[in-house]
Amino acid sequence: MTTVAFLGLGAIGTPMAKHLARASLGLRVWNRTAARAAAFAAEHGVVHAATPADAARGADVVITCFPVSSDVERLLDGADGLLAGLAPGATLVDCTSGDPAGSQRIAAALAARGVGFLDAPVSGGVVGAEAAALTVMVGGDAALLARVRPVLEVFGKKIVHCGAVGAGDAVKAVNNGLLAIHLWSLAEGLAALRKAGVDPAVALDVINTSSGRSNASMNLFPERVLTRAFPRTFRLGLLDKDIGIAAQVAREQQVPAPLLQLTADLFRAAHLAMGEEADHVEVVKWVEQLTGVTIAKD
Ligand code: NDP
Repeated sequence: MTTVAFLGLGAIGTPMAKHLARASLGLRVWNRTAARAAAFAAEHGVVHAATPADAARGADVVITCFPVSSDVERLLDGADGLLAGLAPGATLVDCTSGDPAGSQRIAAALAARGVGFLDAPVSGGVVGAEAAALTVMVGGDAALLARVRPVLEVFGKKIVHCGAVGAGDAVKAVNNGLLAIHLWSLAEGLAALRKAGVDPAVALDVINTSSGRSNASMNLFPERVLTRAFPRTFRLGLLDKDIGIAAQVAREQQVPAPLLQLTADLFRAAHLAMGEEADHVEVVKWVEQLTGVTIAKD
């Protein structure tokens, strides 16, 4: 039987781990704030590991889901670190939306111990995670992915091998770069239309059957902006990080990408102004402040 460990019970990690708990994989969980892992373990009848090393010890597959790659790197070393528990032949699957260079460093440190590594960021949000319908974009050895695929299928609906280590991170960053661009540009466009006397609900109705539609126009604005609900599911700070990685990927490849860089700067400014708790869709409130227009129904 495959034994799995899951580290990082945040907004997206928790629903992913819930599916693993139900799948009889001898799950053990670890979280920086131990109370969260203790509560999860008690609720789902799994093991609460005291340290990353304890979580990894005896696990065939160790899954991490933290904000950034450097959080994973910092957990590798020391007596309590992942490397102290990971056995040769085990695989670390990092579901963090990380950065390619960070993933390459982690893969090299693990390879020196005979441990495999896949970067495997996910898309689909908390709703997709709850429904076990995430898209998982994977970088690393294809044969290794074939081995761990049954574990990823517990929470993933579409699992795609994107290329070498770091390729999953790069695809995820560009995807989220597009999300950021769509959010910001749709907010600007609807602010202008609102001022021109057009009800944003009417504008969205047109856009959503026309060529400018996106996840932002079809789902996020109708459900979260027009209703003024703005639920907190994915922190603005994390989208700031993602669009920054997308711009970085373009720079490293020497691809001119002024739109990615501009959007990264805009999101950094909004993140600094709005703080760590703000949700990514709340960037629309920042655009509303800049434009002096509230994007609400008539
Ligand atoms: P959260 O901020 O909700 O949770 C972060 C998790 O990481 C918590 O368990 C937190 O522990 C832990 N953590 C934070 N910093 C450290 C650290 N330095 N060392 C150890 N543990 C740490 O983030 P999400 O769950 O939303 O996001 C996780 C990853 O998934 C990110 O890379 C994000 O971009 C990506 N993602 C998120 C989506 C979403 O909809 N939320 C969608 C797709 C991808 P503690 O409990 O102690 O704070």
